[in-house]
Amino acid sequence: MQKIQNYINGNYCDPVSGKWLDNYNPSNGEVYAQIANSSSKDVAAAYEAARDAFPSWSNTPIEERSRILLKIATLIEEKMMELATAEAKDNGKPLSLALAVDIPRASSNFRFFANAITQFASEAHESVGLGTMNFTLRQPIGVVGCISPWNLPLYLFTWKIAPAIAAGNTVVAKPSEVTPVTAAMLGDICTEAGLPKGVLNILHGEGPSAGQAIVEHPHIKAISFTGGTKTGEHLARTAAPMFKKLSLELGGKNPNLIFADCDYEKMLAITVKSSFANQGQICLCGSRIFVERSLFERFKKDFVAKVSQLKVGDPFDADSDLGALVSRPHLEKVRAYIRLAKEEGGTILFGGQPVTVKDHEQGYYLQPTIIEVFDDQCRVNQEEIFGPVVTLMPFDTEEEALKMANGVRYGLSATLWTNDLNRTMRISKQLEVGIVWVNTWLNRDLRTPFGGVKDSGVGREGGFEALRFFTEAKNVCIKYE
Ligand code: NAD
Repeated sequence: MQKIQNYINGNYCDPVSGKWLDNYNPSNGEVYAQIANSSSKDVAAAYEAARDAFPSWSNTPIEERSRILLKIATLIEEKMMELATAEAKDNGKPLSLALAVDIPRASSNFRFFANAITQFASEAHESVGLGTMNFTLRQPIGVVGCISPWNLPLYLFTWKIAPAIAAGNTVVAKPSEVTPVTAAMLGDICTEAGLPKGVLNILHGEGPSAGQAIVEHPHIKAISFTGGTKTGEHLARTAAPMFKKLSLELGGKNPNLIFADCDYEKMLAITVKSSFANQGQICLCGSRIFVERSLFERFKKDFVAKVSQLKVGDPFDADSDLGALVSRPHLEKVRAYIRLAKEEGGTILFGGQPVTVKDHEQGYYLQPTIIEVFDDQCRVNQEEIFGPVVTLMPFDTEEEALKMANGVRYGLSATLWTNDLNRTMRISKQLEVGIVWVNTWLNRDLRTPFGGVKDSGVGREGGFEALRFFTEAKNVCIKYE
């Protein structure tokens, strides 16, 4: 059986404990690989490799760092099919999605930060008339930790690693134990691209052991984390007494506000995607849909009709729109929310049932599910489900729509459908989120700041924001005569 080893100091190695975890294929429920079950001893080894690599890497000319990152980007493109196949098998997502989104984006993450670092500049402030000149150095932090979730495995793993190493840091990184395979493959790609040993170290294992040991390590000075809000809260408590720099990208319960003046057909097509892409397992999915009352019945009918045409099936079947959910426990969690919706008085307009796929009877398949709710404060409308489940509710006024949109603990993103420019501005300014999409969804320019407010996290990734996170600003003030 395939073994997913750690990648430390440029070499693949077994975990110190000799212990392994099972890795499941969500499309058929079978164990197909063993994952290194790392502990603090492996974290210590990874840290030492990263520490030893830091002096040289942080002094490597920017052009050279950039060249290596570009090479990694190119190699990811060249191995597109191999990586996408591994991602679909490990995560359960349709191969078509991994080919269209996950792997191309992993490559763009390296390409983008390879270029961004060549344009990253610092400020200078001359105190005119006082004979002082200030300039700000933006220096790499040292050894940093990157921890990522299972929903967009290589996409989010590289979204952190690329800016960290572009800025001259060395890294101890851990992908989710639920989807470790493409992260493990990245080690070989980095070796082939000529990334010096120890610059990137990839550890596998569970959050409370391997992940916790990274966060607890006294000399890993910054942590970039994407995952659940509860985990983020725990991580912040662990890191705070050590005054670590933290970037936390956490959960969401994103609203879609649909006004009657929108471009209806475009809205309908994109709302199907923003609800169910990647089985609804994208932190940016619009899971609460609020529709202006005059459009509500028409939308409800057309949305149910369109969603009922989506095909749930084997990720490797070319016409599958939705694949399998990522794991058995996650499937059970999502199903529990569907039961709760009924208990809370919601109406299941479509879906709600597991799907049996021929020859894949043990896979974790679920119908896309639409629930009409009657109280925006019910738990199904308040808690992150992170699966193929959306809620629908009508609204009468702009004020009511905004109140419901903002009436949750989360604040990651929102999508607004309207052709009224004044309303667009009014609402965009008042939405309590980090990202607003107007008449589009998941439209990403990597230069823009990415992140949430409220319980969706702290800090911003993307563009120079990420390079600022992965550097320390040091001001140098020179007095001259
Ligand atoms: P999770 O919090 O369970 O795990 C995320 C990562 O943290 C994994 O690698 C896990 O092993 C690790 N981890 C767990 N406990 C840890 C600990 N004590 N110390 C250190 N690391 C620990 O999240 P998940 O279930 O993998 O992912 C789903 C969540 O991620 C959802 O809530 C989703 O909204 C969120 N997410 C957010 C964004 C964003 O950009 N805001 C993007 C994708 C996913």
